[in-house]
Amino acid sequence: MATITVLDVIRTKRDGGELTDAQIDWFITGFTDRRVADEQAAALLMAIVWRGMSPRELASWTAAMIASGERLDLSSVGRATCDKHSTGGVGDKVSLPLCPIVAACGVAVPQLSGRGLGHTGGTLDKLESIPGWSPQLSNDRFVAQLRGVGAVIAAAGDDLVPADRRMYSLRDVTGTVESIPLIASSIMSKKIAEGTDALVLDVKVGSGAFLPRIDSARELARTMVGLGTAHDVRCSALITDMDQPLGFAVGNAVEVTESIEVLMGGGPADVVEVTLALARRMVELANGTADPAEALASGAAMDRWNDMISAQGGDPAAALPRATEIETMTATTGGHVRRIDARKVGEAAWRLGAGRARKQDDVSAIAGIVLRAVAGDRVSAGTPLLDLHLDDPTRLAGALDALDGAIEIGDEPPRPRTMIHDRIDAERTAPP
Ligand code: URA
Repeated sequence: MATITVLDVIRTKRDGGELTDAQIDWFITGFTDRRVADEQAAALLMAIVWRGMSPRELASWTAAMIASGERLDLSSVGRATCDKHSTGGVGDKVSLPLCPIVAACGVAVPQLSGRGLGHTGGTLDKLESIPGWSPQLSNDRFVAQLRGVGAVIAAAGDDLVPADRRMYSLRDVTGTVESIPLIASSIMSKKIAEGTDALVLDVKVGSGAFLPRIDSARELARTMVGLGTAHDVRCSALITDMDQPLGFAVGNAVEVTESIEVLMGGGPADVVEVTLALARRMVELANGTADPAEALASGAAMDRWNDMISAQGGDPAAALPRATEIETMTATTGGHVRRIDARKVGEAAWRLGAGRARKQDDVSAIAGIVLRAVAGDRVSAGTPLLDLHLDDPTRLAGALDALDGAIEIGDEPPRPRTMIHDRIDAERTAPP
């Protein structure tokens, strides 16, 4: 076999050629054990951004990423498992009510989750605002909690797809995040290695999403569903709206508070709609028959939440950290609120301290934004539009800058918002 060199791999992709399976294995292994330098990997990643990957290359790349670390074995859980993954958004607290709802329907939810980066929030950051709660679990405790409580949200261990850990950090600083094959392989390698039987993908579309356009969101959804199916994970994707923030709260503690409102039978209608749509699909993929709306209404989901938080050291009854200083932004003119730009609100919450600029940064549990008006509301000059929750007043000016033009007010009411834009299922192969 010809010797593989990193320069040949980079040049092949740069010139529009297809990498062989051997070249891909060699590169991912060399990158994981640091024989391939960051600058060489960055060159290949940029070539992939421009040239893309064939379906065979993508399948091989994803398999090599999975093989770079351990694969969890959930066979001892004793019931069907189904996870959900969101491509990330503003105010996207759905995992918090969703996991206990689905667990209350008899389907175990093994969620290895991440932290927020940039304008999108992270589930672990939100849950860490609950006093005592810890995302760190050994694999044995992860499986034991799934068996007992039926739902776990935890941090992925260092041994789960180590190639992605390093590659994602590199992509983040080299402008190589926005590539459908790289995003799809990054997300799906982690979900496949997690060992779930089934997976529902929440692919966000709109200004607050990674991919603002519906055609790109559909392509990402199809690519991820195809990768999962090829690895025997039953997969389906919903394409959901992220043009405006989800719910009223954007931040960490404020989103936990809103999630608890949902579990108590209230909460914003858009959050409830997206959560129940995803929950129904998860239960269906796991061949369950229970009704998620009933699990919510009966209080069974709330009981699971309390168990899930306590099992990880959290006190579900403890008061959450609250802002001592709240600055209110008011309307300067009257009319109908037509649209609230998700990206600008996400960026403002990030500038207040709710998100991080670099992986190692701390986030504030308190900082965030709570909308007091949403699209469709009628407002007059002086009506409160949103509250900025502060724990560092020096950050206020930057957040207000980010909010410039975020809220459109006009004479005409907006068209009603559609939350679920599409559903992408695995392609059926014709029977032989
Ligand atoms: N989330 C991931 O885990 N990977 C990506 O590439 C993008 C979002």
